[in-house]
Amino acid sequence: ALEIHLAARPIGRPQPENFAFVEVPVPEPGQILVRNHVMSVDPYMRGRMGDAKSYIAPFALGAPLEGGAVGEVVQSTVDTLRPGDFVLHNLGWREYAVLSADETVKVDPDLAPLGAYLGVLGMTGLTAYAGLLDIAEFREGDTVFVSAAAGAVGAVVGQIARLRGAKRVIGSAGSDEKVRYLIDQLGFDAAFNYKDAPVVEQLAAAAPEGIDVYFDNVGGDHLEAAIEVMNTHGRVAVCGMISLYNATEPVPAPRNLMQLVGKRITLRGMLVRDHANLRDDFVREVGGWIREGKLQYTETVVKGLRNAPEAFMTMLDGGNTGKMLVTLG
Ligand code: NDP
Repeated sequence: ALEIHLAARPIGRPQPENFAFVEVPVPEPGQILVRNHVMSVDPYMRGRMGDAKSYIAPFALGAPLEGGAVGEVVQSTVDTLRPGDFVLHNLGWREYAVLSADETVKVDPDLAPLGAYLGVLGMTGLTAYAGLLDIAEFREGDTVFVSAAAGAVGAVVGQIARLRGAKRVIGSAGSDEKVRYLIDQLGFDAAFNYKDAPVVEQLAAAAPEGIDVYFDNVGGDHLEAAIEVMNTHGRVAVCGMISLYNATEPVPAPRNLMQLVGKRITLRGMLVRDHANLRDDFVREVGGWIREGKLQYTETVVKGLRNAPEAFMTMLDGGNTGKMLVTLG
């Protein structure tokens, strides 16, 4: 069976040689043996590939990478899970995973496609929901700006804001095609390509009355621009700063933090793992919007475990629209 190991810690953008393909015997089942069907590649994995001190331990060198996956139970010694059941768990990047029952959550393949449990109805969807509604304390009538808006988290943030009664929803993304997708498919009021001109100029033009909420996925000049254009008592959910993840030097922006004082801006970090209490509300509300056709979601699917490193690197480069997933034949 194939596993993908961390061969070397990347410096800057990850490269193919940071990954190793390793053939191992199909593992002996512990409580449960799972054959993975779909796995997630996520920005936070870039952090775990380094060895900096963080909220989550680094990946070990020479060991399989880890991450969200959904697979089919092929052997089980527990009563609650039978062969043919599907489970969500954290041992992706390999064909077969050995798990204990408490490391898995059973999922229903008839209720939603398997990949949705990793994206819109899973970790990234909950991040959007908790970040916007709880951390940024979104209120009806707010003008909301979200960066990486055509990605897994961002696309859901913008649509929740629209469906919950935002005055105006603005997104930024890295291509004209994504900008069109945000406006034409997802119903954003305005969107811009951050590669076209300084973010602050484009944001100010898109938000003539300022913004009340910024959902930060990018950091750097995006955060600086949001502070610049933010209204009094504005709130920022600091969800991620992907523009920094491959950086080898400290980044200069934001340089305008003094504006937090006069505008009484709140900047608040978040980790999705703190928000499990919102899961039921989230699934009910977002699941309902999906069923009613009010909330769209897109997945970029790469086939084959051997292409997972490429999928991960492509996602960091912006090659995905919506959630980036890898299916395992
Ligand atoms: P996405 O699906 O949004 O994929 C990442 C996207 O980031 C790319 O598609 C690319 O889109 C964009 N990007 C890459 N480099 C840059 C750059 N230098 N400047 C601007 N945009 C860039 O990933 P996710 O939705 O999974 O994650 C989005 C953010 O949310 C990340 O920062 C991630 O770390 C964070 N996150 C945080 C969680 C938490 O608990 N705090 C949980 C989950 C995610 P483009 O083409 O637009 O450049």
